Amino acid sequence: MRAFFHPDQSLHDPQQFMRVGVISDPKDLPSRTEALLSALAQRGVIPEQPSDYGIQPALTIHAKPYLEFLQTAYERWRAIPEAGPEVLPNVSPYWNGSPAQHQRPACRSSSVVAQAGYYLGDLAVPISAHTWTSALRSSHSATAAVDAVLDGAGVAYALCRPSGHHARVDRASGFCYINSSAIAAQRLRSQFGRVAVLDVDAHHGDGTQEIFYRRRDVLTVSTHVDPDAYYPYYIGYADELGHGEGEGYNLNIPVPPKSGDEAYHRAIDQGVDKILTFRAQALVVALGYDSHRDDPIGLLNVSTEGFRGIGERIRAIGLPTVVVQEGGYQISVIGDCLEQFLAGLVGNQTLLQEG
Ligand SMILES: [Zn+2]
Repeated sequence: MRAFFHPDQSLHDPQQFMRVGVISDPKDLPSRTEALLSALAQRGVIPEQPSDYGIQPALTIHAKPYLEFLQTAYERWRAIPEAGPEVLPNVSPYWNGSPAQHQRPACRSSSVVAQAGYYLGDLAVPISAHTWTSALRSSHSATAAVDAVLDGAGVAYALCRPSGHHARVDRASGFCYINSSAIAAQRLRSQFGRVAVLDVDAHHGDGTQEIFYRRRDVLTVSTHVDPDAYYPYYIGYADELGHGEGEGYNLNIPVPPKSGDEAYHRAIDQGVDKILTFRAQALVVALGYDSHRDDPIGLLNVSTEGFRGIGERIRAIGLPTVVVQEGGYQISVIGDCLEQFLAGLVGNQTLLQEG
């Protein structure tokens, strides 16, 4: 199995995370990547370093003014004498969050404070010195994994960090800046007519849903905690089915808090049925471990072994597959979750055996 990761992805080092009115310790720690890399090493998989694709893959999904903001915000912020160490919003423009409401114009104001409010959807996406570099490299890992699959690899794993599935066309949120899963699906479209995204992170893949909500060539399926009780709250409900030409090409399968392996596997089975009916030709899996029972911000009760069942279900679909890493924050278990997932997905196959 081929895997991709760039060391620059560990540079992003957020300092704070606002939770129920408390400035808390960050959860997307750089050490997440070490835990996942050791799990790969145990399987004999040494990730390849992706080439520098620049901004082009991100531009296939995101609005240019938004990417320019991400790239320049930190330097501009540092020029404000009293500014804090990270770019964070203190204004929140009204936006109703409806997936039927698509692109916004560029931010009217040239002020970085105004743009922080406009482009950063919550207080979980601080921008510091290396955020742009890490987010861009993360998109390159996903891009390289797609290229491996376009080149004939049956399965490729992109160790993406920071994650991407909450990032919309022009908005960062929920630890996500650039939507690597969406970039992967779009790039697979160059060779495959129908592409499906299966998001098994504990959070709804709201960014990915919104990006493809009007399209019928990319099916989006997400299994996640009922948003009535869990982030992203405003979106991810079962009655969101797509819009216009895309109606019928989005499926949300919310599960109640505290659901365990059986309920989560059942939800994924339902998603797999939809993917088969759609007759997808290639698959992107947005993989998170925050459904694990030990996750510090999780509400589900999935076991470590439960991830093997998730991998097996994806293997059974039998499509060319790009696995994109999303969330999962309990450092002591995420390596084992990846190991179990890969055991279900590819068995004992390693990079070396494949040559
Ligand atoms: Zn998540």
